[in-house]
This record gives sequence, structure tokens and C-alpha cells, in this order.
Amino acid sequence: MGRTAETELMIEAEIRQNLDVVRGRLRDAATRADRSPANITLVAISKSQPDERITAAFAAGQRVFGESRVQEAQTHWQARRDEAGDLELHLVGPLQTNKVKDAVGLFDVIQTLDRPKLAEHLAREFDRTGLIRRCFVQINTGEEPQKAGVTPDAADGFVEMCRGLELPVEGLMCIPPADQPAPPHFALLGAIAARNGLSRLSMGMSADYEAAAELGATHVRVGTGVFGARAARH
Ligand SMILES: *Cc1c(COP(=O)(O)O)cnc(C)c1O
Repeated sequence: MGRTAETELMIEAEIRQNLDVVRGRLRDAATRADRSPANITLVAISKSQPDERITAAFAAGQRVFGESRVQEAQTHWQARRDEAGDLELHLVGPLQTNKVKDAVGLFDVIQTLDRPKLAEHLAREFDRTGLIRRCFVQINTGEEPQKAGVTPDAADGFVEMCRGLELPVEGLMCIPPADQPAPPHFALLGAIAARNGLSRLSMGMSADYEAAAELGATHVRVGTGVFGARAARH
């Protein structure tokens, strides 16, 4: 066996094991909270990962992936998108209005709907193309000035506005402040969703996806826990 093939097999074994660990922990967390593990989708966040690691995750049966940048997602996923019918791609990073067309063309789910102007652009693009993409509204639960997302106070009005534009808002997403315990933020997200009649919650990353699953996450976004450490950002 050549060196390259051997390395590929090792990477695949590593990622298969990571996926097994994450899925097992999600099952345990679901059991603790009296929830069905089937209601928790693992979104494997492949941003900044080399292509062979994505291939390995795919070979290991993972089909739901997330990316934070439209352009990088195109290089990772455009060809795979055309090959695999059961692939589901989520955008989990900020979306500029000039990238809406590309994003709608590539992603199945936009998790970062966070302002009226973006809502209007998405509605127009869905209308124009007939590609109606599922949406999550991003909530800035920690009200951090540098972070994207609608503040908890403005959430109800924003969801209503999105519904007025006939956007298929399915749920809410949050990224809690790095320096605070995450569970209160998960609970707040759940409360905002409940009072708006939304049933889906995207919350929890590698460090805290079990807590998120116990607090009602329907989507957990796990990057390093699945793929290993990311390359540094340029
Ligand atoms: C990078 C990223 C993740 C995954 O983070 P890990 O700590 O590697 O699991 C999840 N959500 C968003 C929005 C991200 O940008």
C-alpha cells in the first residue's frame, strides 16, 4: 500500500472514531433529558479543514455539514453537491448581501439570518430562483457588540418580519459568549423559540454540545470534535 493510501485510511479511521464518540455522547445526553436522539442532528462543521478530512467524514457516513464562509464552502462542496443527493449543507457564518445569490445556490439551510436587509435579499432570491432555503434566526444571546445576531429584545419582532416576507424560519441559532457558561444562553434561546412557536434550536459546539442536547438542541454544530484541530485562519 502506498504512503498516501495508508495516510488516507488513518485519517478515515480517526474521523470515524470521532464521529462515533460524538454520536454516542449525543445519545447519552438525549437519554438523560428524556429526548429521542433522532431529534438531534449533528452538523459537522468543516470550515478550515483539508479536503481529505471532509472526504473521510463523508466516507464514514456523515451527510450534514456546516461552513462559515460562502467562498470556502464552494471550493469544499460544489462538486460533492452535484454528486451526492443526500448531502445537507448549512451556512453558519455571517452572510453579506452580495453573497446571497451564491449562498442560496449552495446551502440547504441558512442559520445566520440576522438583519432586515438580509431577510429582504433572501426573500427576493428565493422568489427569483424558486430555491426556498430553510432559515434559522441567529440570536445574540450575550448581547455582545462584536457578534452578529438579533438581540433577545428584538427577536419576536424580527421573526414576525421574516414571516411577513414568507421566509421559512424553522428555528433559532446562537453562539454564546466564549467567557461565560453556555447553559443559560441555551435556555434563553429555547425560551425565545417557544414563545415564537419555533421548534428547532441550533446550539452547542465541540465544548458544550452535550449540555445543548440536554437543553433541547435539535442541531449541534461540532467542528474540532469531529475533524480535529483546524488550520489557523489567514
Ligand atoms: C466554527 C464554528 C463551530 C464549530 O466549532 P468547534 O468548537 O470547532 O466545534 C460551530 N458554530 C459556528 C458558528 C462556528 O463558526
